[in-house]
Amino acid sequence: MKQIFTNLADIIFPPKCIGCGVVFDGNNSHFCGHCFAKINFIKSPLCHCCGIPYLGDEESNHLCGNCISTKPHFISARAVGQFDGVLLDAIHQFKYRGNIAIGKALGELMAENEYPSLNIKEYSLIIPVPLHLKRLKERGFNQSAILAKTLAKKFRMPLDITSFKRCAYTEPQVRLKKQEREANVKGAFEVTDRRKIAGQKVILVDDVYTTGNTVKECARMLVKNKAEQVAVLTLARVI
Ligand SMILES: [Zn+2]
Ligand SMILES: [Zn+2]
Repeated sequence: MKQIFTNLADIIFPPKCIGCGVVFDGNNSHFCGHCFAKINFIKSPLCHCCGIPYLGDEESNHLCGNCISTKPHFISARAVGQFDGVLLDAIHQFKYRGNIAIGKALGELMAENEYPSLNIKEYSLIIPVPLHLKRLKERGFNQSAILAKTLAKKFRMPLDITSFKRCAYTEPQVRLKKQEREANVKGAFEVTDRRKIAGQKVILVDDVYTTGNTVKECARMLVKNKAEQVAVLTLARVI
């Protein structure tokens, strides 16, 4: 029955590529073949902690210099692809133009992707990087929460959007210089209900991993509040 409705919906609303808008035979993908081929998927070899891919001649996963000098509180950070081209355009349409349908499709892309040495099924709770209430009112939605909700649904995992909050209204990280970013998010997050976090293996979801300062600070707070383990999952990563 569900299949009939899906087929009917495809006739009335034919699937459009979220990259270029062309109508195409969906085949469970939200990108047409042309756009899909242009996504720079992140694969091994990479830093097995922060997930930065090695584009040189390294052969296996190992810790990068940054993670050796300052070990993050998360065990691993993984992203679907590099923050460029079709993925960058799709994220902008979602985040800044409020195209929620694209956000849901991107969440499905995150759920369907395979990540080197990260098995989402081994985790117990999904938490999005929270937005401050003021920013939430400005934007009207939390892009990370939409991605996290889609992931939670696909993996039938609990989603918690209430026990972890952004308590400080900070400048958007993109407007700041590299050195200012770490200080900007320091102390910006709080756990409001420790009982919900303690002992959990958390998948922390964000849209883009830029310098990693935001998710590093989130992971620090979650671990401080007795989360057993934190892994970070983002749609895209700046290389
Ligand atoms: Zn396309
Ligand atoms: Zn690293």
